[in-house]
Amino acid sequence: MQRAKYKTGLVFFPAFDWAISPAHPEREERLLYTQDQVFEEGLLDIEGIEEFKPDLVPIKDVQRVHFCVPDVWSVMTESHFISAGGAKTIGMAVMDGRVQRGFALVRPPGHHAMRVVQGARGFCNINIEAIMVEYLRQAYGVDRVAIVDTDCHHGDGTQDIYWHDPDTLFISMHQDGRTLYPGTGFSNELGGPNALGTTVNIPLPPHTSEEGFLYVTQHVVKPILEEFKPQLVINSAGQDNHFSDPITNMNFSAQGYAQLTSILQPDIAVLEGGYAIEGALPYVNVGIILAMAGLDYSQVREPNYDPVKIRQTRETSRRIEQIGELTLQNWAQREQRSARSRERRGLDRRTRNIFYDTDNLLESQKEIISICPDCAGALQIDSTADRGRHALCVHIPRKACQACREIGYQWFETAQREAYDAVILQDRTADTYHQRQHGA
Ligand SMILES: [Zn+2]
Ligand SMILES: [Zn+2]
Repeated sequence: MQRAKYKTGLVFFPAFDWAISPAHPEREERLLYTQDQVFEEGLLDIEGIEEFKPDLVPIKDVQRVHFCVPDVWSVMTESHFISAGGAKTIGMAVMDGRVQRGFALVRPPGHHAMRVVQGARGFCNINIEAIMVEYLRQAYGVDRVAIVDTDCHHGDGTQDIYWHDPDTLFISMHQDGRTLYPGTGFSNELGGPNALGTTVNIPLPPHTSEEGFLYVTQHVVKPILEEFKPQLVINSAGQDNHFSDPITNMNFSAQGYAQLTSILQPDIAVLEGGYAIEGALPYVNVGIILAMAGLDYSQVREPNYDPVKIRQTRETSRRIEQIGELTLQNWAQREQRSARSRERRGLDRRTRNIFYDTDNLLESQKEIISICPDCAGALQIDSTADRGRHALCVHIPRKACQACREIGYQWFETAQREAYDAVILQDRTADTYHQRQHGA
């Protein structure tokens, strides 16, 4: 009988009652074929691979991360509470030492959901990885975390949530934003003024194959992780880099994903995208599970796999090496840049337009951050959606200094309530969330 080298936990949640529309790529069959494959391969009979049942997350877990406008029930369904709960269940199993590693095979996905949520973007309403991470920080005192996003699409939601946080390293490798949704994730997106360098983007050319993905994982991602020394490594394990995926243009494989996982050695993996429901997902998922458990995955083969046919060109390899070099240069300069940036003090501002493609909604944000050498800074987001609401959202970070905490409370208390549908304060130092509706 086979025995896992690393005790590995799994959660399955296919979300039978949640679909954007019956023919939409984000639908329940995504996980049903995978679940069948996992049973057929006898993975759950292997000693050391254990299945857990997901719990719903309470609203408090969501409000630790998001500003849901106008409220949680307007932007979430029960499936979202369970999907986030699946990630959290795996996180807890790892932290409690019941397993060494875990993989949450859940949907709906989450990595396009930003801190402010006025609707759904890129099939995502809430960010399930961030909800898990902030829960683990609150409940177990975890501090430094790395999230490595290997979905084909840039993890713009996770990037947004951790943009100002120097204790969270966010690395995304994805198909170049000039050729794919959401059109962001370039090498010069490095993080806010208090966290310059802890956002790392690796845009890859279309048709990158195993060679390119594994090169980047081994020679760029791995050294950065080793230097950052996170207490937990989370993998946002999107599978839409597969050569058969219908909505992307990459040439990755099930073997490749398994190898990537064994190089990355994540403590926790959370499923993100992946839309080749029969031809890729069951095989990629089995490969990832075997790699996490430290078992042999060399027999995992999807239909139509031909490494010669999908091999990247020499020009693609050369471009990937250049991107890798640039990424490592930026990383090497981060401390110097960050120290210089934080000396400036005062307030930094940016304005952005955020398109919610799933809900066809346009949000404009005016963001203010206090530049601080001692903490992640108080953050204010003035958010207006064209068919939505107007909200003022104030975030006080987990390890805020006294001065930034006071700035946050001042913003909240002196806000002109008549001008907003909601004024919200998320105070992570006290783990509280206060919302004042119009006129209250
Ligand atoms: Zn994706
Ligand atoms: Zn501060």
